[in-house]
Amino acid sequence: MRAEIKEFMDALKAKTVGENEFHQAVEEVIETVWDTYQANPKYKANKILEKMVEPERVIMFRVPWIDDKGEVQINRGYRVQFNSAIGPYKGGLRFHPSVTLGGLKFLGFEQTFKNSLTTLPMGGGKGGSDFNPKGKSDNEVMRFCQSFMTELCKYIGADTDVPAGDIGVGAREIGYLFGQYKRIRNEFVGVLTGKPREFGGSRVRPEATGYGTVYFAQHMLKEKGQDIKGKTVAISGFGNVAWGAAQKLVQLGAKLVTISGPDGYIYDEKGITQEGVDYMLELRASNNDVVEPYAAKFGAKFFAKKKPWEVKCDIAFPCAIQNELNEEDAKQLVANGCQMVVETSNMGCTAEAVKFLNANITFAPGKAANAGGVAVSGLEMSQNSMRYSWTAEEVDQKLSQIMKDIHDTCVKFGKEGDKIDYVKGANVGGFIKVAEAMCAQGHV
Ligand code: GLU
Repeated sequence: MRAEIKEFMDALKAKTVGENEFHQAVEEVIETVWDTYQANPKYKANKILEKMVEPERVIMFRVPWIDDKGEVQINRGYRVQFNSAIGPYKGGLRFHPSVTLGGLKFLGFEQTFKNSLTTLPMGGGKGGSDFNPKGKSDNEVMRFCQSFMTELCKYIGADTDVPAGDIGVGAREIGYLFGQYKRIRNEFVGVLTGKPREFGGSRVRPEATGYGTVYFAQHMLKEKGQDIKGKTVAISGFGNVAWGAAQKLVQLGAKLVTISGPDGYIYDEKGITQEGVDYMLELRASNNDVVEPYAAKFGAKFFAKKKPWEVKCDIAFPCAIQNELNEEDAKQLVANGCQMVVETSNMGCTAEAVKFLNANITFAPGKAANAGGVAVSGLEMSQNSMRYSWTAEEVDQKLSQIMKDIHDTCVKFGKEGDKIDYVKGANVGGFIKVAEAMCAQGHV
């Protein structure tokens, strides 16, 4: 690492002790945008990078709620309002026991660049709680969401900060959160996205992240004169993101051989069919485990406590959680002939894995590849403001165009000879727009 970057990172680490995932996310960005930053006196005079790593505002609050036994439970809630240079804070809420302030800062920081890449006017934010929805009854989830929103509603608004879902937060939770916001504020506005369709949710929003990442992969393949049809694909997860990717991959004729859950992965050597995807969606809708019942019904092999990165595939889509694919996994994938990794979870690969993959095969970072979800959230905001809704075809067409634009930005800023460095392209492309906006809005 260059001395001046090390100095920058050391200063940040001293101020944010223990926020390791945040440091990981910042370091990757700083390494790739440093030359652009140095070359522009305006950015330096304005200390743009120093400002960008400091959230504009962090809100932390107590979330008390009553469980089904009548006992009081206490969780911690957060909203990190990271950067509003190009639009209202925008980003999901994560309910997961691993949620910490440092984790949400990494996600909010990444979100700022991702949202900038979408071409839509959205700043970056993220929030959530260490609440674990697993094993909770529907009533418990509702009471938790109501308590969470009772506090959060003081800080958000359709033109201020617009949360959405993330891990552990889907349409059900967004519905409960929206109901509580409306009850307290007495206003029916697009303050949350990812809403059920009956009250302002956009068509294609549930599948947007997954569809978008596959559209992005199609553009990457096109650069190489290839097509997704017939490619063998491994994905992890079967949550909010992975199912959309699975569905689109199957529709486009890819041979999808894995999906995974918290306890292991399944390998289906024949390839998962549309019938298989539909069956898993049914299981998901009734809150059942997906992986093992699928294996039993379709005769696939289940590998307990293993990750799918040991299988032979052409393309891998990590779709579960941060740092789910490490350097060892990356080496195994490449040794088995994998040519492309499309990071679909936020920071799904460790820093070492990213370096290895970027040097050896084609790698797309999550902030570019998974931006389709927040992009359709942006389209939901537009539809809510207009009190109008677009058809599924219209939304899908706009999503597809946005993914092409993001790909073009990565090529513009990441092309080096005949190679495209997607990490650099995404970071520099996302950075310049935010930096220009921050400079234009004055020095303080
Ligand atoms: N949680 C998603 C993400 O990581 C979506 C955020 C949104 O729609 O606001 O981008």
